[in-house]
Amino acid sequence: AVPLVVAKSTAIAAKSGLLIKNRTAFENARKITTIVFDKTGTLTIGKFEVSKIVSLQKEISENELLQIASALEQNSEHPIATGIMQKVKDLKLSVPATENFNAITGKGVEAKVEGKDVKVVSPGYLKENNITVPGDFKTDLAETVVFVIINNALAGYIALSDSIRPESAGAIQTLHANHIKSVLLTGDNKQVAESVSKKIGIDSYIAEVLPHQKLEKIKELQNKGEFVAMTGDGVNDAPALAQADVGIAVGSGSDIAAETAGIVLVNSNPQDITNLILFGKATYRKMI
Ligand code: ADP
Ligand code: MG
Repeated sequence: AVPLVVAKSTAIAAKSGLLIKNRTAFENARKITTIVFDKTGTLTIGKFEVSKIVSLQKEISENELLQIASALEQNSEHPIATGIMQKVKDLKLSVPATENFNAITGKGVEAKVEGKDVKVVSPGYLKENNITVPGDFKTDLAETVVFVIINNALAGYIALSDSIRPESAGAIQTLHANHIKSVLLTGDNKQVAESVSKKIGIDSYIAEVLPHQKLEKIKELQNKGEFVAMTGDGVNDAPALAQADVGIAVGSGSDIAAETAGIVLVNSNPQDITNLILFGKATYRKMI
């Protein structure tokens, strides 16, 4: 049987936007010493707008580059894909057909477009494959940037902006007041990670991480004696959510993240995490 105080707290939690799927996760919440946050869709709203399109090949116009990218992104549910599709719609451009679409989880997408092998990928993917980018591009990196690769050659890039959730800074502040450390873990580039961290006061960040590295980072923190919570919204966050002592999925995210996590933030509000910890403390203090 579920002890009465726990049942009551679960009901209060539900009213506060917390869906407790796993009682152990709730029981563990009061022991959290570090929270690892995924960026997109968790600390940010996850609504991307295309701010810049740069073609690096003379024979391809900026609109054409966008169209080629959109051919792939029409098959993806990532917030970046939604932003690119919106831009194509705004410009009333056509979207080419694709074959053999494949999502490279946490790195990008690939497919055949008009007989060419096309990829739209993260800076981490470029690094991994030793593809270099012209130097002047680095100044654009205050935003999320995805790269378009056509037949293994870099064809250009698309910059997109997202907004920080208004509740994120307050959530980090409350965590600090409760002596809980915060880490930002993102597949996005360093400049974006640094800028978001500064704006919301997060303790440290790790950028350009690949999905399996998210999981490794959680283990590393646990081996140092930290009791780790992880928040995430994407398919690629699921392994790390499962590894964390408390897995927290953002309500607006993917079903797989929600299935894996013990707790779901129904309103996608990072402030609700502090309520979770305080509820947990109050509940189990009453029982002992
Ligand atoms: P985050 O850690 O910020 O939530 P993800 O792990 O979901 O980000 O994605 C990491 C990176 O992979 C993105 O910043 C982007 O560069 C690339 N990426 C993922 N999905 C796509 C996509 N559909 N189109 C283009 N790039 C993508
Ligand atoms: Mg994500």
